[in-house]
Amino acid sequence: MKLLENHIAVVTGAASGIGRAIAAGYAREGAQVALLDIDARAAEAAAQEIREAGGLAESFHLDVRRREDCVAVARRVAEQVGRVSILVNNAGINRRNAFAGDGAAVIKDWEDIIAINLDGVFNVTHAFLEPLRASQGRIVNIASIQSFVHVRTPNSPAYTTSKHGVLGFTRALAAELGKYGVRVNAIGPGLIETPLNAQARANNPDLVRIFMDHTPLGRPGKPEDIVGPAIFLASDLSSYVTGSIVMADGGYRAI
Ligand code: NAP
Repeated sequence: MKLLENHIAVVTGAASGIGRAIAAGYAREGAQVALLDIDARAAEAAAQEIREAGGLAESFHLDVRRREDCVAVARRVAEQVGRVSILVNNAGINRRNAFAGDGAAVIKDWEDIIAINLDGVFNVTHAFLEPLRASQGRIVNIASIQSFVHVRTPNSPAYTTSKHGVLGFTRALAAELGKYGVRVNAIGPGLIETPLNAQARANNPDLVRIFMDHTPLGRPGKPEDIVGPAIFLASDLSSYVTGSIVMADGGYRAI
C-alpha cells in the first residue's frame, strides 16, 4: 500500500524546484496530482513526466495572486480530477534588496513578494477549503528558515515577513480547522538549490557561505530533500501532527 493512495493533491508552483519534486513524490506514493503554476507550459511538462513514470497528473495554469482565478481553478480541478484532500502551498518568489537601499526596488519587492508568498497562500487555501474540509484534508505550507530568523540572512525584509506570515497562517488555520479533522502544517527548507536562487548562488558566493557556516550537514539541499517531509505531513504517518513546522534545513536552525 502506497502512502497517498486514494488522495488527490494540489501543488502550487509545481512546474519547478521544490514543488515539482513534491508533485512527483506524491504521484510515486499513489496520489493523483494537480500541478498548478503560472508557467503553464512548464507545469504541463512536469505533469507529462509524472504520467510517463506511470503516475496520474494534470496541469492547470494559475497565478496565485488572482483570487477569482483560484476559485475558478478549484472548480476545474473538482470537475476534471475530483475532490482534493491535500493542498501544498508552494508557489513563491524571493528577491534580496536592502530596506534602506533603492526605494523603488524595495517597494516593488514588498508588493510582489507579499502578493505571491502570502496573499497567494490565502487565496489558494480559501478556494480549496470546501473539498479539504469535506475530505478531512491536509494542508502543507512551504515556509522557510526565514519564518524565524533574519540576522544571518540580510536584505530580504519582504521575504522574511511573508514567511513569518506563512507560519502564522499555518498555526491559525491548524487551530481553527482541527475540529473538522483538517491538519495544517509547514515545512521550513534551508538553502535548497533551485532556479529560485540560482542567480544569487552564482553572483553571491558569500550568501551561500553565510548559510553553509550554519548548516551542520555542510551542504545545500536538493528539492528531493523536501519530498520526504512533504509526504510525511500529507499522509497518515502524521495523523496527530498539526500546527507544526518540520525544518528540512540541514540543521541550520538548530545551531
Ligand atoms: P522555483 O524553482 O522558482 O519554483 C517556484 C515556482 O512557482 C515556479 O515554477 C514559479 O514560476 C512559480 N510561481 C511564481 N509565481 C507564481 C504565481 N504568482 N502563481 C503561481 N506560480 C508561481 O522556487 P523553489 O525554490 O522551488 O521555491 C518553492 C517554495 O519554496 C517557495 O515558496 C520558496 O519561498 C520556498 N523556499 C525555497 C527555498 C530555497 O532555497 N529554494 C528555501 C526556503 C523556502 P516562474 O518560475 O515562472 O516564476
